[in-house]
Amino acid sequence: MQSIGSLEIEGLALMAKSAVGSRLWNSKIRPRILRRDQNTCYYCGQFADTVDHIIPRRLGGNDADDSLVVS
Ligand SMILES: [Zn+2]
Repeated sequence: MQSIGSLEIEGLALMAKSAVGSRLWNSKIRPRILRRDQNTCYYCGQFADTVDHIIPRRLGGNDADDSLVVS
């Protein structure tokens, strides 16, 4: 039997986690924010269909509704 390195296991776990994250994002979070803001851009008021973090996730932002805007 062949052993798998722990790095490899960690990589698989990360992949699984982000797949779940983006499924939740696309099926729940994104449509909820688009509906809340009626597809209106937070910045310019035009029609928009993307959802943005006010504070980017890498700078400590999260996926809470009030951290997200349509743009
Ligand atoms: Zn805009």
